[in-house]
Amino acid sequence: MPELLTPTVAVIGGGPGGLSAAARLAPELDQVLVLEREQQAGGIPRHSDHPGYGIRDRKRFMSGPAYARALEADARAAGAQILTGWTVTGWADEDTLAVTTPRGLLHVRPDAFCFATGARERPRTARLVPGTRPAGVLTTGQLQNLVHVHHQEVGRRAVVVGAGLVSWSAVMTLAEAGCATEALVSEHPVGESYALFRVPGKALFRTRVETTSRVVAIHGRTRVTGVEIEDTRTGNRRTIDCDTVVFTGDWIPDHELLRSAGVEIDPASGAPVVDAAMRTSKERVFAVGNLNHPVDTADVVALAGTHAGERILEHLAGRPAPEASVRLMAEDPIRWVSPSRWAPGGPAPARNRLVCWMDRLVTRPVVTVRQGGRVLARRRLPWPAAPGRTFRIPSGVLDGVTADGGEVRLSVD
Ligand SMILES: Cc1cc2nc3c(=O)[nH]c(=O)nc-3n(C[C@H](O)[C@H](O)[C@H](O)COP(=O)(O)OP(=O)(O)OC[C@H]3O[C@@H](n4cnc5c(N)ncnc54)[C@H](O)[C@@H]3O)c2cc1C
Repeated sequence: MPELLTPTVAVIGGGPGGLSAAARLAPELDQVLVLEREQQAGGIPRHSDHPGYGIRDRKRFMSGPAYARALEADARAAGAQILTGWTVTGWADEDTLAVTTPRGLLHVRPDAFCFATGARERPRTARLVPGTRPAGVLTTGQLQNLVHVHHQEVGRRAVVVGAGLVSWSAVMTLAEAGCATEALVSEHPVGESYALFRVPGKALFRTRVETTSRVVAIHGRTRVTGVEIEDTRTGNRRTIDCDTVVFTGDWIPDHELLRSAGVEIDPASGAPVVDAAMRTSKERVFAVGNLNHPVDTADVVALAGTHAGERILEHLAGRPAPEASVRLMAEDPIRWVSPSRWAPGGPAPARNRLVCWMDRLVTRPVVTVRQGGRVLARRRLPWPAAPGRTFRIPSGVLDGVTADGGEVRLSVD
C-alpha cells in the first residue's frame, strides 16, 4: 500500500492560482501541500519571459519568471510545502489522490482540495487544420518552453494564429529567438488584443494582422513551408511563406482530474461549475484560476487564489455553505460566465466580478440579467466586450437573483 499523507489542504498545481491560495491558507493551518508536476513551481509565468505580470496583485510591473519566483517565495514564507516533480495522476478512492513523486507512488487524503491546474492551448490536431504534418507547428506554451527553458532555435519566419494578448506574447518570444513574424491571423474584424498592444506591436515587430481570415491548410513535407489562409468575407485564399506556425489562445481548462471525480463541468467552457466561493459540485473540492476561466491574467488569478484561500478557511472553520444556488447561463455572444453558479446571500466572487468570454466584439455593451423570463438588471458598461480576452461584469448585477427563481441568463447587446 502506498504511503498516505493527510494534510489539511492539498493544492493541486503550483501556478499563480495555487501558490496564492497556499500563501493565504498556510499561516492558519497545520499542513498545506502544493503538488506541482514540474521541477519548478510558478506555472505559465515561469517561461513567459516578458514584462506585464504583477500589476494588480503586487502593484508592480514584473517579468513572468520574477513574478513566479515572488509567488513561490511568498507561499514558502507562509509555511506551505511546495512539492515539485509531484504529478497527481488520478484518484485512489473518492477522498484520496494518487500522486506520482520522486519517492514513488503516494496517496494524499486532505481535509479539503484546491484544484489549480490551469488551462492549455488547443493544439493543431484538435483544431482540425488540414494539410501535411511537418515539424515547426507549436502552441505558445511549447514555443516559450523551447526558447526560454531549453534555449533552442525555432525558425526564421513565423505565422501566428490568433491576435490576442497571448499571440503578441508569442511574437515577442519569436523575435527574441531571431524569428520574424510574417503575420498574425485573426478570424475577427479587429485583432483581439488591446489597441495599446496591437498598434505599436505591428510597428515594433514589423508585422501585420490578417483580420477576418482563417488558416485552411499547412504546407511542407518535413518542415513547414507555408500557411494557406482564407478571407472569410470573400473566400479568397493565398499562401504565406514561413517555416514556423504558432497556434495561440483557444483554451481548454485542465479539468481531467475533476471530470474523473464526477464533478459537474460547464459544457460551454469545459471548466468545473463553481459558485462564488469556488466550490465545485463535490463536497470539500474547490477550484481556482484559469481552470475556472480560461484564461484571465495572472494578477487576477492570484487575487482569486487569495479569495479561494479565504473561502476554504471558512469551510474548514465549519461555516455552512448557502443552502440553495442557481445556475448562471451565458447567451450568445457571451460564450461562458464564471462563476457559473450563484448562491443568493453567499459570498461575493473574487474582486466582485463575474468573468465572461465573448465570441464577438460589442464596443458599448449593455448587460441584461434575466431570471424566469423577468429582467432583473440592465447595465451599460464603459469598457468593450471583446473576444480573445476576458470581459468582466460587476457582480452587483446579480443582486436581485433569488434562490427559487430558476436559472439566471446573462446577455450583452
Ligand atoms: C504566452 C502567455 C503569456 C501571458 N502573459 C501574461 C502577462 O503578461 N501578464 C499576465 O498577468 N498574465 C499573462 N498570462 C496569463 C497567466 O500566465 C495566467 O493567467 C496564469 O499563469 C494562470 O495561473 P493558474 O495558476 O491558473 O495556471 P498555470 O499558470 O497554468 O499553473 C497551473 C499549474 O498546475 C500544474 N499542474 C497541472 N496539472 C497538474 C497535475 N495533474 N499535477 C500536478 N501539477 C499540475 C502545472 O504544471 C502548472 O504549474 C500569459 C499566458 C500565456 C500563455
